[in-house]
Amino acid sequence: MEQFQLERIVEPLLSWYNANARILPWREEPTAYRVWVSEIMLQQTRVEAVKPYYERFMKSLPDVRALAMAEEETLLKLWEGLGYYNRVRNLNKAAVQIMEKYNGVIPDTYEELCDLPGIGSYTAGAVASIAYQRCVPAVDGNVLRVISRIRLDERDILLASVKKSVEQDLKQIMPADRPGDFNQALMELGATVCIPNGEPKCGECPWYSFCMAREQGCMTEYPKKTQKKARSIEYKTILVLQDEQKTALQKRPAKGLLAGMYEFPWMEGIQDEDSVLEHLKTLGIQVIHIKKLEESKHIFSHKEWHMTGYAIRVDELERSGDKSGLLFVEREETQERYAIPAAYAAYTKYLDIKLGSEKFR
Ligand code: SF4
Repeated sequence: MEQFQLERIVEPLLSWYNANARILPWREEPTAYRVWVSEIMLQQTRVEAVKPYYERFMKSLPDVRALAMAEEETLLKLWEGLGYYNRVRNLNKAAVQIMEKYNGVIPDTYEELCDLPGIGSYTAGAVASIAYQRCVPAVDGNVLRVISRIRLDERDILLASVKKSVEQDLKQIMPADRPGDFNQALMELGATVCIPNGEPKCGECPWYSFCMAREQGCMTEYPKKTQKKARSIEYKTILVLQDEQKTALQKRPAKGLLAGMYEFPWMEGIQDEDSVLEHLKTLGIQVIHIKKLEESKHIFSHKEWHMTGYAIRVDELERSGDKSGLLFVEREETQERYAIPAAYAAYTKYLDIKLGSEKFR
């Protein structure tokens, strides 16, 4: 890495932010609670997708006390479609700790924030700087990318040591009077100008005149990252079992991927009609009609589900399926009470249930 005077970035960045900061619901009244919830929601999820979830969450759980007291089912329902459900479980656990240890007031130091469940260095930095004006950086993938481009940093940004070193560098140059704006401006630049996919919009960038990647025309070659391991693929056959009024669901295990959420019963592998009928027979379920549904795919961070499905009409679920261990729920109830992950969106539509951002349309 060539020597680059990092303090050059501060003034142009803040002036650019003064003129270009997006109006976002969590920026209107940046209390620690609102910043915290928004930052957790924004991890792995786009701003536009988060907005309706955020508004609804704030209406339903407006403060730390309400969050600490919320039932798991309520939390999962509020989070349904956002994915990475441990994020909302940790929000709840942290809220309980804040009630017990800090009398309901979110702590204002980086160290205390880092001790709470689900809060890492990035979120602690964001809350401490935006809500409490503490001079601590908030470094995520966006920030690592823009900093690596501007100074042609060859180091692997996936290494914890590199993140730490960037945090230290930024801490040296953060303006003491606007730490929250500085962090938000860096994030904003990464999200809207120095974007991750495709060509960055260098023409709109406040660092155009001195960015080393722009000068050398190698913007998309940075940041440097080691190749991630390929995702594993699981094949599943989804069974949308219904009678006149009810649908069969099952609860996922309490630990692991999508823990504690509800889903359709399914079989491992891509099964044909005969195997599905044979399987249902062993559960004591009498089928009236079976129809093949479309194939679908859902991508998680470490694995992919490749699915096919069947719509299966049975006479009376409760009577024929009572040995199956499944839950039989009214369709309207499914929409209201049972949190189903967005991974199943291709099949919930057959029950007229919308998941994820679809349901806000
Ligand atoms: S000039 Fe281009 S590459 Fe450099 S920081 Fe700005 S947008 Fe990114």
